[in-house]
Amino acid sequence: MSSPDERREALKELFHEARGCVRCPQLAQTRHTVVFGAGNANADLMFVGEAPGRNEDERGLPFVGQAGKLLDTLLGEIGLARDQVFIANVLKCRPPGNRDPHPVEIERCQEYLFRQIELIEPTVICTLGNFATKLLRHDTTGIMRLHGRAEVRMVGPRSVRLFPVFHPAAALYTPSNVDVLRQDFRALPELLALGAPEQPPALVEPSVEDEPNSDPPAPPDAVAPGEAQPAIAAEVEAAPEPESEPAPAEPHPAQLGLF
Ligand code: SF4
Repeated sequence: MSSPDERREALKELFHEARGCVRCPQLAQTRHTVVFGAGNANADLMFVGEAPGRNEDERGLPFVGQAGKLLDTLLGEIGLARDQVFIANVLKCRPPGNRDPHPVEIERCQEYLFRQIELIEPTVICTLGNFATKLLRHDTTGIMRLHGRAEVRMVGPRSVRLFPVFHPAAALYTPSNVDVLRQDFRALPELLALGAPEQPPALVEPSVEDEPNSDPPAPPDAVAPGEAQPAIAAEVEAAPEPESEPAPAEPHPAQLGLF
């Protein structure tokens, strides 16, 4: 488990990697921004939606249009705010015309989502709609059958409480769906109160007595005082990822709403 600062820094690094990503040639050409995700890097609750829409693409933040307002309202009703959760999408780039994500795009982009989940270590992941639910359950069962039903699932190396609900955008124009969504959201505080589910043995951290040497190991590239710090040196020397274009010098500040 990382400290809050380490998580935030690791997420920033991942963001810098993603913002130059061109793995999906069409999306890389038509997007304005890579919408990485935003929120609390140490959140217990993480939301995963489908893909950025027009507003999100322009502002670089997830769920900032009408669906985002509904999400904020639903969060407020259960006593939560955006800065207490983390919100991301299956795809980080807007599909043109808000079309559905293509399977190949999901395949290419999922690594970023799974790395986000691994870094944030949420105890509850609330999947918003079909695409996120199917991806994280590795199953084609649809949201109509699954919404509002919590289950413990392995997501990457960790066990989490997965909780599928309707996508707010799909519920927007159907009042009865908003009622269903609201009802499902009411289960979230109780789910969060359960804490993390039991983790597979490999993830259980050894106690101090189990460790042969409780001194923290020296970093392999430790340097003497006065020398260049390794992280800074690595930044200068880092070659661009083969699948990424060189990133712009400075991200728009709104693009990484990390708390
Ligand atoms: S893999 Fe993700 S971040 Fe990269 S271009 Fe495709 S949608 Fe965008």
